[in-house]
Amino acid sequence: MRKIQMVDLKGQYEDIKNQVNTSFEEVIKNTSFINGPEVKQFQQDLEEYLDVKHVIPCANGTDALQIAMMGLGLKPGDEVITADFTFAATVEVIALLQLTPVLVDVEPHTFNIDPQSIKKAITPKTKAIVPVHLFGQTANMDEIMKIAKEHNLYVIEDNAQAIGGNYTNEAGEKTKTGTIGDIGATSFFPSKNLGCYGDGGAIFTNNDELAHTIRGIVNHGMYERYHHDVVGVNSRLDSLQAAVLRAKLPKLDAYNKARRNAAEKYTNALKNHQEIVTPEIIGEGDTHVFHQYTLKIKNGKRDALAKYLQEKGIPFGIYYPIPLHNQKAYADSRYNEADFPVTNQLVTEVISLPMHTELDKEQIAFITGAILEFLKD
Ligand SMILES: *Cc1c(COP(=O)(O)O)cnc(C)c1O
Repeated sequence: MRKIQMVDLKGQYEDIKNQVNTSFEEVIKNTSFINGPEVKQFQQDLEEYLDVKHVIPCANGTDALQIAMMGLGLKPGDEVITADFTFAATVEVIALLQLTPVLVDVEPHTFNIDPQSIKKAITPKTKAIVPVHLFGQTANMDEIMKIAKEHNLYVIEDNAQAIGGNYTNEAGEKTKTGTIGDIGATSFFPSKNLGCYGDGGAIFTNNDELAHTIRGIVNHGMYERYHHDVVGVNSRLDSLQAAVLRAKLPKLDAYNKARRNAAEKYTNALKNHQEIVTPEIIGEGDTHVFHQYTLKIKNGKRDALAKYLQEKGIPFGIYYPIPLHNQKAYADSRYNEADFPVTNQLVTEVISLPMHTELDKEQIAFITGAILEFLKD
């Protein structure tokens, strides 16, 4: 059996090696390292793939979220509602911009932000909601868009874990995740479903005016060379990264399918055990692109299982071990433990198994076999 890795990017590279190496040589030959033609081409490829009017590439997913909030003109003191159970980047940029993060609980079956909790958290100061499509499954965007419309709030989708996912709304229309709200932000960190060979990110929007504003913000607030109209940042996708992403984008659907196949195999092997809750897929299967395959382990056995897997040389991840409202940087006297029953429980139960496009049957059987062995009787 091949060595099991949490993420395996080598196999993908073998498959696109010629194209990537040729484009790398081209970029180096032209010395067009920043804003080379590859960046523009990738932008257009991604606009077409997502069926969105504007893609603005930037340096990473955290920047994408920050720039999205700057672009919407959010001001210090504005409240932004997001999930308590997510990677810290989401809340970090809210705090960094001196907006007020308002963390709310998630749904137990999808790990995604709970629309009922959003409703309860809205105040006259609330300006935006940031749903995170956690582990690759789209949040309940029908409900979130309804709440946003009713209260006149912006919706910024954190799509870092869900690129390529399709959301089918109540009317039966399919939309790519990240293009449903006012603005979407994504990351091309190497281990993401569409990853480059360094850092990268992008912002998506169908709003022409917002796209224009953001194109200036990413470039030091310049709309005309050396005229700085707003306070901006320096956030660029470099040409080498764009070349990798151009080679990978046509394969994204196949990559996501490979992840879904691996997820299905895991679920088939583990679904009937009383102490294991396998991930629930909402709606049509293509809503979930399995950035992570995350189980809930019942009866307080998660940590012992983790230790067992470690001894067996099976990689795993605990995403995420601490609720954001309990992190020193984001703790706030307004929060009440009773408001986060789901997150508080999830952090003790979740464990993510190896997930990437190169997993084979034998590896999955070995991993699931070890889990079942540990949990037998
Ligand atoms: C990875 C990730 C980010 C940040 O992306 P970077 O490119 O690492 O800055 C933001 N939000 C979520 C949910 C992520 O998983």
